[in-house]
This record gives sequence, C-alpha cells and structure tokens, in this order.
Amino acid sequence: AMRLVWFRNDLRCHGHTPLRQALAGAGPVLALYVLCPGQWDAHDVAPLRRWYVLESLRELGEELAARGVDLHVIDGGDFAGAVEVVQRFVADRGVTEVFCNREYPVNELNRDRAVARSLENTGVRIRGFDDGVLVPPRALNTGKGTPYTVFTAYKRRWDAWMEEKGPPLPETPRWPGGQGDFVGRATVRKALAELSVSPRLTELWQPGEAAAARQLERFVARDLAHYKNRRDIPCEAGTSGLSAALSAGTLAPAQAWWVARLAMRDAGVREGAACWIGELAWRDFYRQILHRFPMLAKGAPFRPETRLLQWNDNETLFNAWCQGRTGYPLVDAAMRQLLSTGWMHNRLRMLTAMFLTKHLFIDWRKGERFFMQHLIDGDVAANNGGWQWSASTGTDAAPYFRVFSPVRQSRRFDPQGHFIARYVPELAELDNDSVHEPWKQPLLSGDYPPPVVAHEGVKQRVEAAFRAARDTW
Ligand code: FAD
Repeated sequence: AMRLVWFRNDLRCHGHTPLRQALAGAGPVLALYVLCPGQWDAHDVAPLRRWYVLESLRELGEELAARGVDLHVIDGGDFAGAVEVVQRFVADRGVTEVFCNREYPVNELNRDRAVARSLENTGVRIRGFDDGVLVPPRALNTGKGTPYTVFTAYKRRWDAWMEEKGPPLPETPRWPGGQGDFVGRATVRKALAELSVSPRLTELWQPGEAAAARQLERFVARDLAHYKNRRDIPCEAGTSGLSAALSAGTLAPAQAWWVARLAMRDAGVREGAACWIGELAWRDFYRQILHRFPMLAKGAPFRPETRLLQWNDNETLFNAWCQGRTGYPLVDAAMRQLLSTGWMHNRLRMLTAMFLTKHLFIDWRKGERFFMQHLIDGDVAANNGGWQWSASTGTDAAPYFRVFSPVRQSRRFDPQGHFIARYVPELAELDNDSVHEPWKQPLLSGDYPPPVVAHEGVKQRVEAAFRAARDTW
C-alpha cells in the first residue's frame, strides 16, 4: 500500500492529522504539493502571501526530507491542472490512499470533487480531515436546520461543541526515519525567483512552521493576558500576528486553541484567553458562512437587496483611499500600514472598509480585492466576511446602521497619535489633539491632503440609499 499526503493550506508537520494517519500505517508514504499560480492570479493573491506560502513550503520540504518523507512539488497551473497532476501522480506511483485536509470554498470543493471522480473506479481511497477549522462548517445548525448567520448564537453552540467534541491536543507524527528527498526543491526555488516582491516587505515576516510556533509561544507568554484590553489599540502589538500562519496552515488552529485553553488555568490570563478564543470562533464562523452560502465567493452580497445599491465609481476617490491620502489621518495611516507591511490591524480594517463603503460609497468588492492584493493573510472567508460586515451587506446583527466616525475612532483608539505618527510622518509634529483633525491647522506643513469628503451627512445619505434599495427590492 502506497499512501499519499496531499498538502494544501496546511503547510506543517505538527497537528496535521492526514500526515499522522498516513504515517501510522505500514508501508511507504509520499507527500505532494501542487502549485497553482493561475489560481493565485484569479484570486488576486498578494505577492507577499505567495512568498510566505512558497518559503513555508520550502521549509516543509526540508523538514519532511530530514524525517524520511519525500515531498514532490509539481506545477499544475490552476485547479483544473491540479486535478490532472494528482490523477497522474496517483497512477504513476501506485498510490492506494490519498490523505488531505478538506477545504471549503467553492473552487476548492469543485477541485476535490473532480479528483474524487477521476479516482472513482480505480479503488483509490480519499480520506479527508478537518484540521483547517476547529468546528467543521456543517457541524452546527439552528433548531430549524439552517446555518447560523448571527455570530453570538453561533458562538454559544460553538463553545458547547468544543467542550464536547473539540480536537485532541495536536501531535507530531511517528516518523519513518532515514533520509527523504525534497523532490520539489528546484520547482519551489524557480517559483520564488519568478516572484516580484519587495525585500522591504519580506524582511518583516518569518515564514514557516517553526517561526509560527515561536510566535504563538511569545504571544501567549507576553500578550495573551492583556489581549482583551490591548487588542483594539493599533500602536501596540497586542494581537497575535498569527493570521498569515493560520491562513497558510503553518499553525494548526487546534494548536492555537489548546495553548490558549491551557493558559486559562492561570486566573490572570483567563479573560484575555477567552477573548482570543472568540476570534478563533469568528474564523470558523466566516468559513461556515462562505461554505454554506457559496454565492458569496462569486461576488454576491449576503443581503440580496443591497445588489440594488448604486455605488460610486469615482476612481480619484478610490485611488486616494488606496494610497492613504484621504485626509483622515487614521484611515491614511492604516492604508499605509497595509502597503508597507502587508498587514493591517483589525480595528483599522473595519475603519478603512467602512470609510470606503460608507464615506466614499465605493463598492465593497473593490476594497475586498485591494486587500487581497496586499495582505499576507489574505483569506477569502475572513476578508469577504469582514468587508460585507463593514459595508452592511453582510451578516451583521446590529439593530442600527453602523458608520464609524474617522475622527472619533482616531481619538478613541490612537489618542496620542502614535500610530498616525508612525505611518503619516507629515503629521508627526502635530500635538495629540490636532493630529486627529489636521485640516483645522492653518499652518500644516508638507503636502498632507484636506479631507476628500466631509463626515457630516454620510450616515443620512447612506441610510437613505439602503432604505431605497430595501423598498424597491
Ligand atoms: P488576533 O487578534 O490575534 O486573532 C487571532 C486569529 O483569529 C487571527 O489570526 C485570525 O485567524 C482570527 N481572526 C481574528 N479576527 C477575525 C475576524 N474578524 N474574522 C475572522 N477571523 C478572525 N483575517 C484574515 O485572516 N484574513 C483576511 O483576509 C482578513 N480580512 C479582513 C478584512 C476586513 C475588512 C476585516 C474587518 C477583517 C479581516 N480579517 C481578516 C480579520 C482580522 O482583521 C484579522 O484576522 C486580524 O487582524 C489578524 O491579526 P492577528 O493575527 O494579530 O489577530
């Protein structure tokens, strides 16, 4: 019996059930990764994220080889090509069983169904696992048998499910020993060489499983206890910074959950850890939303009546937002953080997304795409969920219409203007009162722009547009 472990967005050895199960049986085990640059292009995957994935893959290949497992990397072009690659690989190598973690967005599902069909009459068995999430996306239903669309209700059930059936403490596989061969080394090197990504970005990040494990350890030891109080303050590194690791799978969600849970034994950490676990639940929530409402991955809004909104096509305003030149300091600092680091703080993702869709009334899909093109953690479920939440086209349960005031957010979450000063040096000299509203300064130096749009009247305008859409629908 020849077993194959097919790696996708789970580039790790620890806490990888397919790998562990494959190695638990007798007989040889091979590993495969299929590159799909065409899919990356189609999904607007940021060059920085591609770099993160390829470097993590390189580390995985070396690690597997050192433990006695060969990793093959084959360029399949896109998902259709991947199906052929897997089919051929299985036939050529006499594979009898394929082990992998399930993926839930619609293109991934279709790819996996096509693979299953292509192996249908060959006797090859495919075994799927759910390490990519904590609670599988079809596990929880409301009393009516429908998916949860309100987070608080989902989270209650999620907590109960985790108590009862949560994943076991992640383990490392039983290695075969000996020296393996990293067959894909040259392919990965070539793909990395073809990437165009600035070293100023890559030097900020550490790809791979080992770095993710260290980052988790550091976060839990130093920041987890204060997470609840610091998570909303962008100038403090109060959040885990693990989103790239979780989305490429260099870290198992089960590992993150277990470490936080064990830390909760310490009374001083309990509140912070519970709050952080809530974020892991949000991650599952948006994955099940995307899986169960597949039209969301095709650009459709969750609230159908919002299809009727007439978004503003103004390219000048869109470009001002993209470049961090809207004249609102915290919005601009946030956009520049994205451009210069490939990451943005959650509070600021909400703020900038709301600014684009409410103040500028520009289509959320344009912002969603721009984020994907720049984020190291770009993830279709979380990104789509976050954008639709911000645009009020999504699953937000708030009984009122949300519009953040960029000035109030700035005063509240960056009171000293530290974050603004870091990314908008034009404003670094303003005191911590005027930095939030620089247009009130007659002697502003440099070329910082005046606000591209006034805050006054935005809420009324947007509310009226949504009301009109609802009434016409
Ligand atoms: P922490 O605060 O340490 O949270 C731990 C983990 O929980 C994160 O790494 C992430 O995996 C998960 N998580 C946290 N918040 C959310 C959330 N709201 N939804 C889903 N999962 C969450 N997250 C992405 O991973 N990829 C994206 O492309 C993405 N796009 C977003 C777009 C918008 C408009 C908004 C409002 C949010 C988006 N998020 C996205 C969610 C969130 O902003 C990031 O996960 C978070 O900022 C990552 O930083 P961290 O790892 O330090 O988070």
